Amino acid sequence: MTATDTALEQTSPLSATTGVGPRDLVDAVPHELFIGGQWVPAGDGATLGVENPATGQRLCEVSDASAADGLRALDAAVAAQEAWAATAPRERADILMRAYHTMMADTEPLARLLTLEMGKSVAESRGEVRYAADYLRWFGEEVPRIAGAWRINGPGDGRIITMQQPVGPCLLVTPWNAPLALATRKIGPALAAGCTAVVKPAAQTPLNTLYLADVFARAGLPAGVLNVVTTTNAAGLTGPLLADDRLRKVSFTGSTPVGKLLLEQAAGNVLRTSMELGGNAPFVVCQDADLDVAVSAALTAKMRNIGEACIAANRFFVHATVADEFVARLTAEMAALRVGDGSEPGVNVGPLIDGRQRARLGALVDEAVAGGANLHIGGYIDAQPGYFYPPTILTDVPDDARIRQEEIFGPVAVVNTFTDEQAVMQAANDTPYGLVGYVFTRDLSRGVRLVEQLQTGMVGLNRGFVSDATAPFGGVKQSGTGREGGFEGIREYLETKYVALGL
Ligand code: NAP
Repeated sequence: MTATDTALEQTSPLSATTGVGPRDLVDAVPHELFIGGQWVPAGDGATLGVENPATGQRLCEVSDASAADGLRALDAAVAAQEAWAATAPRERADILMRAYHTMMADTEPLARLLTLEMGKSVAESRGEVRYAADYLRWFGEEVPRIAGAWRINGPGDGRIITMQQPVGPCLLVTPWNAPLALATRKIGPALAAGCTAVVKPAAQTPLNTLYLADVFARAGLPAGVLNVVTTTNAAGLTGPLLADDRLRKVSFTGSTPVGKLLLEQAAGNVLRTSMELGGNAPFVVCQDADLDVAVSAALTAKMRNIGEACIAANRFFVHATVADEFVARLTAEMAALRVGDGSEPGVNVGPLIDGRQRARLGALVDEAVAGGANLHIGGYIDAQPGYFYPPTILTDVPDDARIRQEEIFGPVAVVNTFTDEQAVMQAANDTPYGLVGYVFTRDLSRGVRLVEQLQTGMVGLNRGFVSDATAPFGGVKQSGTGREGGFEGIREYLETKYVALGL
């Protein structure tokens, strides 16, 4: 670690909890709303319960914000906007870097906290902490690079100057499946660009976002720049914010139906919008694929985050000549995974987020089997506490089965075969979604051809993993608009102002 790194490092109460129990981890994070730089209870004193999905037991209560609390958070964001936009780029960058270093120093306890409220294994949570922190580092590095331009106009009698200015106060709404990373990938660019924000995390996983607010406060973020409101009344809280003409942007990660609702509401004040919505990723294994690479990538693309990922492989299309071997090898890999409480050492597959998600997944599998699909492993719900569902593989799933149309969001692989390249591209694109696709081939020409034909915002070519803070993440069609991460990420929070200079 360099001298600068040390100067930027801060401590958080979570850092003192290494080696202690779940209660200490949960208690090391504030449980109230963060508004205007203060930790405050909900105006009506209401609280909401946070559950551990591995046990079904309550971890703690946090404040349950009302619409009035949401508007107080917007008041604070609006009050802080002008001064924050005027801060020196280095000042904003340093705050983001300090928060980055604190998160990295907290990796172990933060990973265990993430596992407690979301369920994934601690090993996977460590990966999410590093990935989440990386967005703060990347956007911290981007702050001094926000640039304008100077050009001679067409007729030559004037000059064109462009500058980038922050959009203004933002509403950032995040889901439960990667609560830390999906928060920093909005908070990072918003703060870097000079925007203030009201963050509404998912009701099931509020603790990680409350941790982030605490880290930013300790890193010297001015009061009101970042506000966090946890609530059970998502629509009731966000509706009045979207209707308030002081809000300038909404960035949402979550399901496509909710994204559409927010887009409708955002139209009222013609807000800037960024939408990271659902996926239905095809995973295409050609006859010339390296099967070692394809099977290992399939395991990652299917089982990462317990399958609860928008970029999870949803439909496997495997060339008929290699399908038996692919299925046999994937079955062996998935059968070897250990299912259990993600906090326990050696566990690979934690519980689903709740009973509703598990029942939905169980119904999708049962319907496919009833319709003629072959079940290779898994496919049952056992009676133990917690919302576990085992790694499951289905083949020969009928085209019209719901599991081939809908986002599975769980550890179930649906494998079908193909023989014709054109037909498989047609099938891969036959969905309203277009977030990511995966292609496996050793033939460069075929690879380029298929990558170009896939109607998705991202493609993994011989790779089952596309998440990277330095790359533009996002979808086309009903998977959303806008990009998070990469050079593109900060542009979502900047407006271009053009000055016509007369000479
Ligand atoms: P969700 O039900 O759409 O919820 C996401 C967020 O929106 C939560 O904070 C939720 O609050 C809030 N919300 C729900 N209904 C709302 C409404 N009517 N008005 C305003 N806010 C509302 O999605 P989810 O089930 O949590 O997440 C899974 C979905 O997210 C999947 O479709 C997945 O593909 C998608 N996702 C996309 C990406 C991407 O980058 N494209 C990344 C991850 C996940 P509550 O928690 O209180 O309901």
